[in-house]
Amino acid sequence: MCEQHDQQGPSDVRATAPDVGRRALVRGAGGLLLGGGLVVAGAGAARAATSQNGWPASSSPSAIGITGLTVAGHAFPSGVRGGQVHTILGYVARRFHSEVEALVTPGNWGYNYRVISGSTSLSNHASGTAIDVNAPRHPLGSSGTFSATQVSRIRSILSSCNGVVRWGGDYSGRKDEMHFEINVRPGDSRIAPLVAKIGGTTPAPTTAWSTVQSGASGFRVTAIQHLLRARGQSLTVDGVFGSVTVSRVKAFQSSRSLLADGVVGPKTWVALVVTVQNGSSGQAVVAAQKALTARGYSLTADGVFGATTASKAKAFQTSRGLLADGVVGAQTWAKLTI
Ligand SMILES: [Zn+2]
Repeated sequence: MCEQHDQQGPSDVRATAPDVGRRALVRGAGGLLLGGGLVVAGAGAARAATSQNGWPASSSPSAIGITGLTVAGHAFPSGVRGGQVHTILGYVARRFHSEVEALVTPGNWGYNYRVISGSTSLSNHASGTAIDVNAPRHPLGSSGTFSATQVSRIRSILSSCNGVVRWGGDYSGRKDEMHFEINVRPGDSRIAPLVAKIGGTTPAPTTAWSTVQSGASGFRVTAIQHLLRARGQSLTVDGVFGSVTVSRVKAFQSSRSLLADGVVGPKTWVALVVTVQNGSSGQAVVAAQKALTARGYSLTADGVFGATTASKAKAFQTSRGLLADGVVGAQTWAKLTI
């Protein structure tokens, strides 16, 4: 578990922290808190009703609606605040697991009633509005524990959260790269739209997909052919669903234990699409670029997912009511090819 996060907005800290805490936090802003004495919460040290970010905190988890959080089979003891916070931090953890680094257990944490070391301010963990992920790999005070690619994926997650979530790796003083927290106050106007956008993205059982089969032609077939190539199947991309394409679809379906009927329906689409985002390259990116172009978001199909592709992807997502994160995942693929 991270020991602390000492970088809430300085004006907030100065407005609320008692003298001793203020001194400690000013030192913290200069990165000098390392080695400071650990103050254990629960012994009467903390009297504030809110954690550093302004959310209600309590030594009684039930009093503030702490609920369990499990992501990909990995529990976050002792859970996080329920409702919107749970949705947001769960979203961050799921994307961290799938895009940045697979979660490991033990090493993930949520609610914990305690103060910030060296101060009397309550940690955001004390309100259940912070999580630590893969703590042993990203120890408090260390920077550079993630690769550049991983950092760019973290940036993508943060961007999706529209300022609602802050990463401890962005603290100006002591880094805390295991740590993600809600960085806005309760009722902030950015929370509800974010929850509305991400709330339905986790399981997507109702996502509608097209059905494409022999005899079809056009951009859907082009996308399928590029995606088949991305999946290791060899064929020419001509936008025509002929016998070779049928054969390659069947081979792909067999490889995934799907019914090998040569028809690209929902199950085959889900298995076939590849999530692409800023930094991705290859046939799946070509597929996405051509599909975006076909949908009116014109792009050069160069197979390199850069800023322009991300921008067009976001515009498309916005037009379809999807979370505009620039990541072309299953839901965006479905809308692109429906
Ligand atoms: Zn933490």
